[in-house]
Amino acid sequence: MSRDTTMTSTRFGLEAFDAGVRGRGVRATRDFERGEIVAHFGGTLVRFDRVTDFTHVLQVGPDAFLGPSGNLDDYVNHSCDPNTRVDIVSSAGFLVALVPIASGTEITFDYSTCMIDEDAIPGCLCGAENCRGIIEPFVSMATEDAERLERRGLVPAFARAMRRAVSVSRA
Ligand SMILES: [Zn+2]
Repeated sequence: MSRDTTMTSTRFGLEAFDAGVRGRGVRATRDFERGEIVAHFGGTLVRFDRVTDFTHVLQVGPDAFLGPSGNLDDYVNHSCDPNTRVDIVSSAGFLVALVPIASGTEITFDYSTCMIDEDAIPGCLCGAENCRGIIEPFVSMATEDAERLERRGLVPAFARAMRRAVSVSRA
């Protein structure tokens, strides 16, 4: 596959920038409308046993992960109050704008919504007013937090199903 396919994100209105303590981030270079696709995760689909490092890896299904693409989609930071959500279509992952996003705004999504098999990441630095302080897997989040994310429509179907399966097996 040509590298050029992943570089298209730049042409579509994103760029990397220095997000301070949160490292490298991605911001809009044009306005995005609510519901618009902001980015596509361009990494290769792999199984859990092939994932050696979860950095820049997105879970898109039970035992299905998109590896790093080497492009901007790898650097989108987490926020507990994100401006995009992950949409999964046949194991392809996209970021969809939850709100109108103005040029210059950092693009974020809530990592927890697609975390099932990954360990919690301590010490969230997102700075949101409602910051949970830790980036936890969706399956083990407090009910109140998980329900808030579900109500906002942020959680992909596979993650909701896996959380339900875990709570049934614990019951
Ligand atoms: Zn946070």
